[in-house]
Amino acid sequence: MTPHYCMYIDGKWVDADDVYELRSPATEELIATVAKGDVSHVDAAVAAAKGTFDQGGWRNTAPAERAALINTVAERLGGRVDELAALQSNENGATIRITGAFHIGLSVAQLQYLAAITEQYQWETSGPAIEPVAAEGVVVREPLGVVAAIVPWNIPLLTTVWKIGPALAAGNSVVLKPDEHAPLLALELAREFESAGLPPGVLNVITGDGEPVGAHLAGHPDVRKVAFTGSTAVGKSILRQSADNIRRVTLELGGKGANIILDDADIDMAVDGALFACMANNGQACEAGTRLLIPSSRREEIVAKLLNRAATLRLGDPMDPTTHVGPIISATQRDRILSYFQIAAEEGATLALGGKAPDGPGFGKGYWVEPTIFTDVTNDMRIAREEVFGPVLVVLTYDSDDEAVQIANDTGYGLSAGVWGSEPRALQMARRLESGMVWVNNWHVIHPAYPFGGYKESGLGREGGPDALGEYTEEKFIALDRSGGIENKAFAIVIDPES
Ligand code: NAD
Repeated sequence: MTPHYCMYIDGKWVDADDVYELRSPATEELIATVAKGDVSHVDAAVAAAKGTFDQGGWRNTAPAERAALINTVAERLGGRVDELAALQSNENGATIRITGAFHIGLSVAQLQYLAAITEQYQWETSGPAIEPVAAEGVVVREPLGVVAAIVPWNIPLLTTVWKIGPALAAGNSVVLKPDEHAPLLALELAREFESAGLPPGVLNVITGDGEPVGAHLAGHPDVRKVAFTGSTAVGKSILRQSADNIRRVTLELGGKGANIILDDADIDMAVDGALFACMANNGQACEAGTRLLIPSSRREEIVAKLLNRAATLRLGDPMDPTTHVGPIISATQRDRILSYFQIAAEEGATLALGGKAPDGPGFGKGYWVEPTIFTDVTNDMRIAREEVFGPVLVVLTYDSDDEAVQIANDTGYGLSAGVWGSEPRALQMARRLESGMVWVNNWHVIHPAYPFGGYKESGLGREGGPDALGEYTEEKFIALDRSGGIENKAFAIVIDPES
């Protein structure tokens, strides 16, 4: 029997008149049906979230209690890693090699880290005495209110946890809208929060289309913050909408990561690292290293090694642990990726590997693109400037460290970058790159204690890291004058003392 998932609103599992049919992107088999919500469900969820927040139950619990509940959820998820990894691979096609350790494992670690920092956080701090008014100063960190979290299909659980973890830890109420292609992990997470005893209305999950459901949520007047991961185009529209009531916005958007191999790098390692940087998560990762910059002096050797190693990548069933690269999320995304191959060829890039949808056994159903490499690419080509969001690597050459930095930074994005080479040169170069994350001799190094986010059009704000709670709190300065008696005050500056 195909499982059916409902939305979670005000502590109840709510169905809709319409449904989504979720199909595996590898086989097109039906995995689940999901309630297809509309804007009335958004209104109900925001009302529930606001009602709960205004009553104050959750936000007035001790931070240690909130941390304990988050730890319980982390523990429950941790006990289901294999099951949830399989569900994720089936739903969005990410390979089983990556969904266990990365999608689920990192989400568990993130929740545990948040629980720890919630207990240690300075929810209230006293400052220095305020002279000459003789007041004491206190800064109180309070939750914002209703937070809208909108997440994509490629790394659904981690992008969700990055938002709702600190939002709930800080005492906010949340309305979460997962992507219509991959909502199951968000709903499984809500189930765990429910079982762990989170009060009704504090977390709500709406499943619906980006337009109109996501847009309605992002623009709802009772939402005090929107935390969004997805495309730069939608991120910009959310930022514009948020001007109406000056709500806070955190954006994690696209990228076009530059991966620089220096001429003193361990080339075998760097080549494997370049394939990992680009092809992990089937090339559908915002922080992917999609532009490979190599020194002209070692071009032939590096390209030969790269093509040799890339030819060993196994494309296929995401549930098979020997598979390196799985399917593309949808026919639309596959066709979009394939259209870039035409553009690249017209622009003069050389197709060195792949470049089409595969045929043969195993590829009759589902949405597939061969791991693809273009050489002779220049940074003005669209294939080097625009986010393709597929298993597609472009190779550019440079003649000096300065030129490598210039090419790397010549992009509207600034999410991720990497340098392969020896110290101190590689580290010096890392400091010159305009990018939220720079990995030296590695890639996709994501850790709960370090911030994730981008420069320029890759985003606004950071997720994870030690400041995560600050993104979900207001600071209130309370000045308390205990000096007593009007004669002690500096009122005379404006008001004459009574004679
Ligand atoms: P998308 O922006 O279309 O969708 C992301 C989410 O936003 C989905 O839940 C969708 O339903 C919702 N949405 C769509 N239109 C909306 C609107 N007008 N208002 C409010 N919500 C709306 O993104 P996509 O194309 O499905 O996902 C891939 C993109 O996301 C890529 O560009 C990728 O780089 C980016 N991404 C970024 C990160 C990051 O952390 N920086 C992570 C994953 C994906």
